[in-house]
Amino acid sequence: MLRQNLEEVEHKVQAACDRAGRKRSEVTLIAVSKTKPVEMLQEIYDCGQLEFGENKVQELVDKYQVLPSDIHWHLIGHLQRNKVKYIVDKACLIHSVDSVRLAKTISDEAVKKQCQVSILIEVNVAEEESKFGVSVEEALPLIEEISGYPNIHIEGLMTIAPFVECPEDNRAVFRKLRQLSVDINAKNINNVNVHILSMGMTNDYEVAIEEGATMVRVGTGIFGARNYGTAQ
Ligand SMILES: *Cc1c(COP(=O)(O)O)cnc(C)c1O
Repeated sequence: MLRQNLEEVEHKVQAACDRAGRKRSEVTLIAVSKTKPVEMLQEIYDCGQLEFGENKVQELVDKYQVLPSDIHWHLIGHLQRNKVKYIVDKACLIHSVDSVRLAKTISDEAVKKQCQVSILIEVNVAEEESKFGVSVEEALPLIEEISGYPNIHIEGLMTIAPFVECPEDNRAVFRKLRQLSVDINAKNINNVNVHILSMGMTNDYEVAIEEGATMVRVGTGIFGARNYGTAQ
């Protein structure tokens, strides 16, 4: 069943690439496995999927320890500074950096552990109250500030678009994030090459790809609906 889901998503990713005149290799599909048991991750891994996304540090670390070591783990959820030390050497990419203080902590930990950390800046493009991330206007000053920190590399931007009935409604959000990346690159900031756009989830990843996404984060479309139980 999971294999079929993955194939269906893969098919839609390819179709969106075709519509946009893009190469499939330009888009990385991240399987968002939060709340799902390791057996399900293993099943997808056995289909050849190596990119996994988790939104909680503890859950990522737990799964990291028991699943194959060639998996690339993406931390896509909000990151608290006191948890940074558990993750800097395990996540291949932290998608959710939205403050100088968090970036400083990541840099300090990376220096301590002698590792290099790749990050994305989370931008709350739609300025939703409930979401983390900096505003479009705050992104450039934040990037300028962080760019000088050792062992931390700004690779791109991430956004979580609003939940909408019709995915078309998020097209403008994705377009805005892409434009922001173009504007930032035009500044030629030392050490900064914004080449990753992490945008699009189950509901809207096809539109996101049409608008330039280089990473899409798909959970429900691959693993089925999540059951958070009574905890959330
Ligand atoms: C849960 C989550 C996703 C995946 O959501 P789906 O709608 O299940 O595809 C993507 N990005 C982030 C940041 C998430 O927390």
